Amino acid sequence: MQTSTPKEITKHIRQLIAKVAPGREAMYLPVRPNDGAKVSECFPNVEAKIFQAGGRMLCGWQIWEWPHILVEAEFHAVWVSPEGDLAEITPKQHGEETILFVPDPSLTYTGFAKDNVRLAVRDDLLVQHFIRVSEEIVKVMNRGERAGQYGYVSVPAHEIEPLMRAKAFLGQSISIGLRDHSPCLCGSGAKYKKCHGRGFPL
Ligand SMILES: [Zn+2]
Repeated sequence: MQTSTPKEITKHIRQLIAKVAPGREAMYLPVRPNDGAKVSECFPNVEAKIFQAGGRMLCGWQIWEWPHILVEAEFHAVWVSPEGDLAEITPKQHGEETILFVPDPSLTYTGFAKDNVRLAVRDDLLVQHFIRVSEEIVKVMNRGERAGQYGYVSVPAHEIEPLMRAKAFLGQSISIGLRDHSPCLCGSGAKYKKCHGRGFPL
């Protein structure tokens, strides 16, 4: 994904926060990975830290941005030291040095992931379809007994591959700057909204 930590708290980010955690405030936290902490595994990371050093878990939302395309809230946990300081101890895949975090003490981690909440910044079909296919992938990953599995999840190829292909197609279209009225990425010569965009979802 092309998302990173937002440089500033924009109007769209405020709208996203109002949706996921009404009345809560966002804060920037420096990323200080704990020894042995793994990317994307905030809950086990914080549990391990509590075991080593005490303190507690604070859940909330980490805010991501794909500039001019979308903003995204990811269910996330940070560590609160015994002195009461918040610390981001989970390393980031693309090396972000800070995160934008919205603490929500009313949330707790019960072993189940929550899907990211996404909001389009640009109102067009490509972005809407990208968000919809991203949501569909998470639903398929968490269907039935797969819910609650953490880390690597095995999903039958016929269920997931068409969605992954669609996500890649849309992600590439958006990345190279195509709009709904641009020629479709498939090369047919027709506009996206009259070509692959018409058959959506898939
Ligand atoms: Zn097409």
